[in-house]
Amino acid sequence: MVTKLILKPGREKSLLRRHPWIFSGAIARVEGKPQGGDSVPVHAAQGEFLAWAAYNPASQISARIWSWDQKEIIDTAFFERRIRTAVAARTHPGIPAESCRLVYGEADGLPGLIADRYGDTVVVQLASVGAERWRDAIADALLHVTGAARVYERSDLDVRELEGLPPRVGVLRGDEPPESIEIKEHNVRFLVDVRHGHKTGFYLDQRTSRHIVGKLARGKEMLNCFCYTGGFSLHALAEGVAHVTSIDSSGDALAWGQRQAELNGFEAARATWLEADVFKELRTLRDQGKSYDVIVLDPPKFAPTAAHAEKAARGYKDINLLAFKLLRPGGLLATFSCSGGINDDLFQKIVAGAALDAGVEAQILRRFTQAPDHPVLLSFPESAYLNGLLCRVA
Ligand code: SAH
Repeated sequence: MVTKLILKPGREKSLLRRHPWIFSGAIARVEGKPQGGDSVPVHAAQGEFLAWAAYNPASQISARIWSWDQKEIIDTAFFERRIRTAVAARTHPGIPAESCRLVYGEADGLPGLIADRYGDTVVVQLASVGAERWRDAIADALLHVTGAARVYERSDLDVRELEGLPPRVGVLRGDEPPESIEIKEHNVRFLVDVRHGHKTGFYLDQRTSRHIVGKLARGKEMLNCFCYTGGFSLHALAEGVAHVTSIDSSGDALAWGQRQAELNGFEAARATWLEADVFKELRTLRDQGKSYDVIVLDPPKFAPTAAHAEKAARGYKDINLLAFKLLRPGGLLATFSCSGGINDDLFQKIVAGAALDAGVEAQILRRFTQAPDHPVLLSFPESAYLNGLLCRVA
């Protein structure tokens, strides 16, 4: 029997709008015996061909679309073509060719595949059974298309569990990556540890925002909360911040930040690195009567999905309220959410509530979003996850 997925009546609508996921509840029946990772044609209830998709019976997302073209063959050459197109699209002014996201999953027509470049190392994350099936083709294509020396795998993401996949980390092509890889972001030097760093080693998505905030901090006193390896702080130091205090709960991340500050030749006296829980430390700073000209809040994901939004909203409100209280008149708050479950509208409401309860009047001067190497596909709003506001208090 020919393998195919047949949808329930009416459930073809989201596919006709080119949304690339098929949830288990949309499938009427599966013909043949496809295995997880197999490429299968998807048909509407009336029989019309809709797309080629990677099947995964073990996930709530039962299929992810590879192609809308019935004639397209999902093979090694397909991955090479898609990867070549994605890499070519990274020739944008805000994207440094030598350190950027090369492939951003669904937004680049490659569901489940993330590939980030740090110099001559490409780091991949395979987040779906479909991407996992084509692991070798993907690794070869990345090496071939970029001319990089090595491909390293960091498939240690939580979402793999939802796909029924174990975590996997290690060399895919070439040799072991060095202990640190130096990259440059708007003239600031960073060291990336692709083996142990968060995500693929670095938060490439905040490149544009770090540059903008750094410039605003010139001559100012700044507080950088959830600093990781000091991304925002290093940009501010490069732009002439008077003093920046950077807080993170990870001592290793802070030590790495200090190392990078030294690498850039910044005077140690302009920076304080503080290992603490931001929720507690903001209260301590408030009780001590401290105040700042610029505050950055860039917390981890509080709400991975909309189901966690309410609890996450309380967390965002808490830190934003405290930050508003710590700002001097005319001070700036750069506040972010990377929670897929919190959209820009909800985030703005949370920040507005925080300002109200803090008793401050604030304006939005600018909106921040993910850097352009993390493009948002119009037909896949889930690819937008990073929201930020630059607020000025009266
Ligand atoms: N702004 C950073 C990225 C921040 S990632 C950059 O530009 O690179 C979020 C950071 O928050 C991580 O480093 C994590 O260690 C830290 N973190 C998570 N929970 C925390 C808490 N309660 N208090 C302090 N830091 C926390």
